[in-house]
Amino acid sequence: MRCKRCRTAPVAIALPRHHTALCAACFDRYVVDQVERGIKQYQMVRRDEPVLVAVSGGKDSLGLWDLLNRMGYTTTGVHVQQGIDGYSNASEVKTRAFAEANRLPLVVHDLNREYGGGVTAMADTSRRSACSACGTVKRYAFNKIGRELGFQVVATGHNLDDEAARLLGNLLRWQVDYLVKQSPALPASHAKLIRKVKPLFRLTEREVAAYAVLRKIDYVIDECPMSHDANSLQYKAVLNQLEHQSPGTKQFFYLEFLRRQPLGVDSTAEEVVLNECIRCGEPTTGTLCGHCRVVAPLTQTRQAGADPAGPGGPGAPAAPVSVDWHA
Ligand code: SF4
Ligand SMILES: [Zn+2]
Ligand SMILES: [Zn+2]
Repeated sequence: MRCKRCRTAPVAIALPRHHTALCAACFDRYVVDQVERGIKQYQMVRRDEPVLVAVSGGKDSLGLWDLLNRMGYTTTGVHVQQGIDGYSNASEVKTRAFAEANRLPLVVHDLNREYGGGVTAMADTSRRSACSACGTVKRYAFNKIGRELGFQVVATGHNLDDEAARLLGNLLRWQVDYLVKQSPALPASHAKLIRKVKPLFRLTEREVAAYAVLRKIDYVIDECPMSHDANSLQYKAVLNQLEHQSPGTKQFFYLEFLRRQPLGVDSTAEEVVLNECIRCGEPTTGTLCGHCRVVAPLTQTRQAGADPAGPGGPGAPAAPVSVDWHA
């Protein structure tokens, strides 16, 4: 079968939601077009603006880094080494290999090195799920590292499937606070916060995976062993079933939600008052930020027997950020 766009090359991928099938070259153009369209629509990043890219070593984040680099953006990767057995080392290796092969700068934030324990230990000591601890610590690290290195924006590899699953989860629980802030582009609502953007929001997980394969990106294929925790997998399965029966359902569900929202939701419109965390000084709605709630029990446990008010105790500064540069 021939590509429905150029009508010469053989089809590499069918896109049922667009009633089309494309060759490798036309699919590549389609992916770049979708990302450019998303960036422009939400004014995510200026052409001359350096972008910090949150990179896990998976197809989405490495695909995003590859795309932004090809599109001419100045990028730096940031990788959080979570210390999850049987997963995190492979993720770090793939991330470092991509950075080196493309001669791109990479910052590695190693939780074990900074706090004496990874996500699993943090989840145990703070009595949270692994994904809750992981998400909190990663978001904190991306913002703090980005700001300290002078970036005003961090890009993540969330795709259409991720965002549709998140929307479904927020609706099922009627989490209105989260719904009003669910956007592919979140502004900085505090002097210590940087903007967060999701340039892949118009592409499905399958399309991003196909892009990574066609670009010969060596990414981590295995799922994180903690992902059984994640409700989002169930929501994705339901949405995939609906998509299979009626192609285009997923995109309509999420993109129509966005269409009915004002462009670039302004989280400051909610007038959430942000204070500075009493432990680390980062923005929080309470007195102790989510990150410190997650890491403080771990650092205190590690220092049991030592001075409880010493490093890691209440009032102590957060661990410094370590930076490794490639290229
Ligand atoms: S599945 Fe959970 S623990 Fe694993 S990387 Fe994702 S958020 Fe972190
Ligand atoms: Zn073609
Ligand atoms: Zn804090």
